[in-house]
Amino acid sequence: MRLAAAAFALILALPGMALAKPLFQPWIDGTSAAEPQMQVQRYDADTFVIRQSVKTNFEAPFLYLLFGKDRALLLDTGAGGLQVRPTIDGVIADWLKAHRRTSIALVVAHSHSHGDHRMGDPEFKDRPDTVVVGWTAPEVAAFFRIADWPNQIVGFDLGGRVLDIVPTPGHHPSHIMVFDRRTRLLLSGDSLYPGRLYVPAGEFATYRASVDRVTAFTRDRRVSHILGAHIEMTATPGKDYAQAAPAHPAEHALELPYADLLELQAAVHAMGDPPTRDVHDDFIVFPLPPRPQPPAPPKPAG
Ligand SMILES: [Zn+2]
Ligand SMILES: [Zn+2]
Repeated sequence: MRLAAAAFALILALPGMALAKPLFQPWIDGTSAAEPQMQVQRYDADTFVIRQSVKTNFEAPFLYLLFGKDRALLLDTGAGGLQVRPTIDGVIADWLKAHRRTSIALVVAHSHSHGDHRMGDPEFKDRPDTVVVGWTAPEVAAFFRIADWPNQIVGFDLGGRVLDIVPTPGHHPSHIMVFDRRTRLLLSGDSLYPGRLYVPAGEFATYRASVDRVTAFTRDRRVSHILGAHIEMTATPGKDYAQAAPAHPAEHALELPYADLLELQAAVHAMGDPPTRDVHDDFIVFPLPPRPQPPAPPKPAG
């Protein structure tokens, strides 16, 4: 009886339910000998997601390129081991052609300034009509005009497309998440993605406050998908790849549902002290142990 009722409820729900279709074609995952160094996938006419091949660097990060009428934003420049600018310039050239334009300003910013998200920066230093945002939290705050870091959330207008910049230190002091009001995508960097969410020792309270900040901000904003900067989970719930794995066969999808942010928030609040590794289906909260301290000098005799 209960089963029949459940089946009936499912049939009723089906017409209005979005089928769980993957957002993207399969990503390059290191399993094909012929895979390119970068793969570009279009989310919509003004939104592109770019993956760096795991064969060029084991981090295999994702970069995001968003266009407005006045400027484009490139979020992150990769982990090194390849040239990223030719690919980015190619996407921009195609966009310009499609919009019958000859130029658009480019802002190069970062989810945060760990080395696997900024190694391509030098390629953009001399690019015309381009600004490369600095790597420290004060530089990020100054560029986006955030007067009260990390408590203030500010809009950044690409021209008819406003992004909300949410300071989210914890994983790294300069970390931001970006909420796009148009697509309602939440670009979550290394603070939430299908993988190991590393939190350095001593930063857990900061990380938890950032999770609270972004959750409070997005609660009524109907986030469509959460898109992070890596994939380290397999398609098997709770199972990750080995650190620095050379290929990612049968990867987890890039996109996470909004419910995962709420699950993360509950997890970081339930965490004891000191925080410990906490495995979930789609991510692993991964507090890092304190760095080993140098041994204390021997006590003088007597
Ligand atoms: Zn990082
Ligand atoms: Zn990273």
